[in-house]
Amino acid sequence: MEFLTLARKYQDQMIEDLQALIAIPSLSDEAHATSIAPFGPKIREALDWMLNKGKADGFDILDVDGYAGLISYGNQTQSIGMLGHLDIVPIGEGWSVDPFGGEVKDGYIFGRGSGDDKGPTIAAYYAMKIIRDLGVELNKKIMLIVGCDEETGMRCMKHYIDNAPLPDMGFVPDAYFPVIYGEKGIMVVKLSGQKKTVIKSLHGGERPNIVLGKCTVEVFGKPKEDELRLFCRSHRIKASYKYLADSTEYTFEGKYSHASTPQKGQNAAVYALNFVAAAYQDEAAAALSTCLYSYHGTGFNIEFNGAHMHDLTLNLGIVHIEKENFDLTLDIRYPNDVDFDFCINNIENTLAKDASWLTMEVVAHKEPLFVDPNSDLVKTLHNVYREVSGDDFTPLKTMGGGTYARTLPNFVAYGMSFPLRKLPDFAGDAHQKDEAIEIESLIMACAIYAQALYRLTYENEK
Ligand SMILES: [Zn+2]
Repeated sequence: MEFLTLARKYQDQMIEDLQALIAIPSLSDEAHATSIAPFGPKIREALDWMLNKGKADGFDILDVDGYAGLISYGNQTQSIGMLGHLDIVPIGEGWSVDPFGGEVKDGYIFGRGSGDDKGPTIAAYYAMKIIRDLGVELNKKIMLIVGCDEETGMRCMKHYIDNAPLPDMGFVPDAYFPVIYGEKGIMVVKLSGQKKTVIKSLHGGERPNIVLGKCTVEVFGKPKEDELRLFCRSHRIKASYKYLADSTEYTFEGKYSHASTPQKGQNAAVYALNFVAAAYQDEAAAALSTCLYSYHGTGFNIEFNGAHMHDLTLNLGIVHIEKENFDLTLDIRYPNDVDFDFCINNIENTLAKDASWLTMEVVAHKEPLFVDPNSDLVKTLHNVYREVSGDDFTPLKTMGGGTYARTLPNFVAYGMSFPLRKLPDFAGDAHQKDEAIEIESLIMACAIYAQALYRLTYENEK
């Protein structure tokens, strides 16, 4: 079956539909939420557009209370799903085209949501249509789920799971090819306690998942100028100080990064604690820097290099120290072959030994996503990608970040960014200005999804 040729036949329709969807500014607007539009009227409009399209084409549709929609084909017991989303992020500034115009220029379609995730959702929709139009008897039902709240908390999928039928397995066209078959487990841990300290105040960070790029600490007492110079030289970090009446204010300049890639950043708060511990012989700061100095979690004895997902990472994302009260928030991401309880026990044991004045609390936890790379699903998806794109070299991937795929069991992320088809300078990526998607990529992704559905619902079982 020549799926690329089949997909090309729908090129004009796909472009037209994507333009219609881009024209709906489906931003979250909860101030105007209603019982049928929990994320506001514009997202509701995009959902209606998509469901009406499915209905007009003869598919079965289900409105899951405005949280999500389901467009499906067939009534077999087993099922394959695809999961896309219709909500977009705010447009931001600096666009050179109309963010809702859907302009076509040099082989690209421009507009907020073109790449994330309206374009990929349209590609998945037409893949389902191509398979339906083949008229062969499938052994699995095909389900396209469209979520309405991917960008602002993924509550859509929580509601969907509680209220609508779940596919047995499937893929999410909202990341990269070839296949992302694993994502680390993510836990947010709070440490708090009271202890005598030379620190007058230290406040930094707003989110656990960002490496603290800059941090100011106020310490009782005179500046330790020589110690600071030495510290900066040996740690290759920038810092400055100001002498106030009875205290010294130090500012450390690290480097911001996402918590899933701490090696790309420099955590200014960890350096600040480290410096105070050394220069002022402060016991509380010393205990903290012993626990937190390594972004691999070595200080808590939770360092681990996973077979598929590589290193466990630890990030100190938020710190509040004032009046001898300590409050720290950590983001810890662990590979699938690490046990959650192993992490918790080791952190607790370390605290009991080195910082018994601190208590820990897990405030959030997401299990790792892991689908066996040798499973039929992953192997089929990978083979189809190779055959259609000709890219035999890019390996399967895992990630530290969290995608939409982790909301459903047996789901992996699958495109539709092509590693060998980089966007040119005039086309923006997801969440950037001038967001655009290449028309050829749209066609290729559609062909890949169609061929994958065909194999998973028909050919493999013949
Ligand atoms: Zn997305």
